[in-house]
Amino acid sequence: MKRIVVTGGAGFIGSHLCERLVKEGNEVVCVDNFFTGNKKNIRKLLDYDNFELIRHDVTKELYIETDQIYNLACPASPPHYQYNPIKTAKTSVMGAINMLGLAKRVHARILQSSTSEVYGDPKVHPQPESYRGHVNPIGIRSCYDEGKRMAETLFFDYHRQHNLDIKVIRIFNTYGPNMNPNDGRVVSNFIVQALKGEDLTVYGDGSQTRSFCFVEDLVEGMYRMMNSREGFTGPVNLGNPVEFTMLELAQKVIELTESRSRIVYRELPSDDPTQRKPVIDLAKQELGWEPRIMLEEGLKRTIRYFEQVI
Ligand code: NAD
Ligand code: UDP
Repeated sequence: MKRIVVTGGAGFIGSHLCERLVKEGNEVVCVDNFFTGNKKNIRKLLDYDNFELIRHDVTKELYIETDQIYNLACPASPPHYQYNPIKTAKTSVMGAINMLGLAKRVHARILQSSTSEVYGDPKVHPQPESYRGHVNPIGIRSCYDEGKRMAETLFFDYHRQHNLDIKVIRIFNTYGPNMNPNDGRVVSNFIVQALKGEDLTVYGDGSQTRSFCFVEDLVEGMYRMMNSREGFTGPVNLGNPVEFTMLELAQKVIELTESRSRIVYRELPSDDPTQRKPVIDLAKQELGWEPRIMLEEGLKRTIRYFEQVI
């Protein structure tokens, strides 16, 4: 069993990851400043002797003994990362520097949760890891996109300069239980709106596409990447390659919730990517990983979660 630090462990994905690692018997330290995370997500883990929670901001140094670090700390929904964009950039960049420094001091393996946003508004479709992206450096999404790109740069420089044992995953849109009902991402917005009988807010004409991965599949991929063969650094795409439009998603949510809500159209935010779909050949080949839970099943489980919390 290992000592494992999960930054951002009280957030949506982090809480599922902590649960998996704790139940396996590892000593897990969840590090979170609770900006978008919530104690409720990890409440049931507090009863375990092998789980510890530290309120800490990753823009500050952290001294702790550990074998592995999963670096997830960073707001991920556009409204939240745009709320204080300078802080978002600091979290990505200084957070990466501090966690890489920690990994170097204690000789830990470290995994960075990067994002499909490093491809920006992609002109190559679907996106393989070799695509270098099409990112606006001065737009409203840049604090996140460029912050994550700089974090990847730092990971690879620590690897080249200090021989650090790094792993980089690029996560594509992920959804499931423990999403914050107010965090503004599309799946949570649509489900909450449908359950409350409110209008579903489709931005633009709804023709933009995404490919959504259920959180349980994603966590399995993260875990496999962390424990993959030495020398395999990635970056590796993790996501579900089934692509659909946001209008189709809205219709599916209405159907599954049997809601009487209507669809309304709102202004498309600037720099909103028009298409997104991962190539996951590398994850299949190196990690033997591919998603198993398809949209309808994942949405049903997520709807059941939101029915209980809202
Ligand atoms: P989330 O907002 O639910 O979780 C982020 C967590 O990080 C929260 O618990 C928050 O409180 C914490 N945090 C934020 N700033 C911090 C700081 N300065 N110090 C310490 N903790 C801090 O989002 P999520 O969806 O769980 O995302 C987790 C990670 O996965 C993020 O790094 C995100 O960029 C990445 N990712 C997520 C998706 C997705 O679709 N969910 C897609 C691509 C990448
Ligand atoms: N979106 C939407 N209605 C909403 C929230 C989001 O139509 O209430 C759209 C948004 O414009 C984007 C897609 O859904 O095209 C995914 O948005 P999200 O914020 O979930 O993630 P990201 O844009 O970072 O992929």
